[in-house]
Formats: sequence, structure tokens, C-alpha cells
Amino acid sequence: MLSKRELARYERQILIPGWSKSGQGKLKKAKVLVAGAGGLGSAILTYLAVAGVGRIKIIDGDKVELSNLNRQVLHSDKDIGRNKVDSAKEKLEALNPHISVEAVKATINENNVFDLVADYLIVDAMDNLPARLLLNQVAVKKKLPLFHGAVYGFEGRATTIVPGKTACLRCLYQGVIPGKIPVVGVTPAIIGCIQATEVLKYILGTGELLTDRLLIYDGLSMKFSEVRLKKDPNCCECK
Ligand SMILES: [Zn+2]
Repeated sequence: MLSKRELARYERQILIPGWSKSGQGKLKKAKVLVAGAGGLGSAILTYLAVAGVGRIKIIDGDKVELSNLNRQVLHSDKDIGRNKVDSAKEKLEALNPHISVEAVKATINENNVFDLVADYLIVDAMDNLPARLLLNQVAVKKKLPLFHGAVYGFEGRATTIVPGKTACLRCLYQGVIPGKIPVVGVTPAIIGCIQATEVLKYILGTGELLTDRLLIYDGLSMKFSEVRLKKDPNCCECK
């Protein structure tokens, strides 16, 4: 049940055709895991929180560093040295006290990922391919959707994976992107908001998901393009 205050808070989005109070109720019951409280995570977490996703779990093992602050807008100068998950939880609870935010300080690895994911929808806001592929593995095993996003400089990409139906991340990526990734804050903001939009649509059951399509954003030419994705029949993960 939504309180009077919640109905007032979400009034404008409840007006969207296909959303309604029942859609808002679905959001309140939803459980979403955001893996990574960095640049992508800042955008994703902010907009899922203000939209009223009822239970949000944040996983990140890092502390806030000065060099994070050009893009990781959930954290501010005074948070340098704090755990990212603690800083993020504090900001999100201030934005929306009607939701519950769980902060898990952990680095995702093959031993902990299965339990950390539990039965949450999975948002990939990581910065490295091995961790993304671990999330993908668990998503496929548990048949949970995975909302993927990645950035590089002024470029970004996103796709939505629904195991059993669509190509998975392993069908898409073989190689590993090395080292420190150059990035300007606006790029993860754009890609993160695309991922958050997909999460909301998935929970509401509205619209058409970004499945079997890789959306590619080029901020320098300000163009969006799309690549069709196909399930790899030999994929070691989802075949
Ligand atoms: Zn696959």
C-alpha cells in the first residue's frame, strides 16, 4: 500500500499512461541490485531511488577517491576516504526516505556473487569485464534480467539481457578492455539513465526493452546507433 505522502511524491509519474498506482506498487515491491557505486551507479541509483524502487542493494568494495569526483556525483568532496556504499546509501535515503537501501561493502568475485545477487534484478554498473561476466553468469543461472552499461570517454553502450530469451553478455564480449578507462561524467550519466529506464520498464511491464540490441552512444558526434545482437549458439554461458 502506498501512503498519501508516497502518492503525492510520485504523482507526476503515476500520470504516465500504463503506470498508474498499481505500477507504483510494483516498484515499491521490486528488489534491484546495483553492482557498482561509481559513475554509472551514481546515475542509476539516483533515478531508481527517486522513482520509488522499494528495495535497493548497492555493492561496491571501494572508497571514494578525489579522482572519482568528476563523474561519481553521489559522492562529494567531504566523502573522500569513506566507503562508497555508505556515502551512496546516505544520499539515496536523503533523496527518498520511503525506500530501503542496503549497502554491501564487497568486491564481487566468483565465491560471493551468487549469494550477493540473491533474487534481485541485476544492474551492471561495473568498470571491469571479469566482474560483469560474473554477474552475467549468475543472471543466466538464476534467470534474472541483467541491465548492462559501459562507458569509454565520450562513448557508451547499453543493452538489456533477459536470460532464456535474449543474447547474454558472453555472447557479446570475448575480449577484455584494459586498465584505467578515460571518462567524462556526462557519459555515465546518460548511459546510467538508459539502464535505469530499462529497469523501470521491466518492473512496470511497459514499452519495448533494449533486448538483442546494443545501443551505442557517441557523445562527440551526438549520435545514437544500434547493433543487432544474436544469441551465440556456441555461447559457453547461455546455450
Ligand atoms: Zn550467451
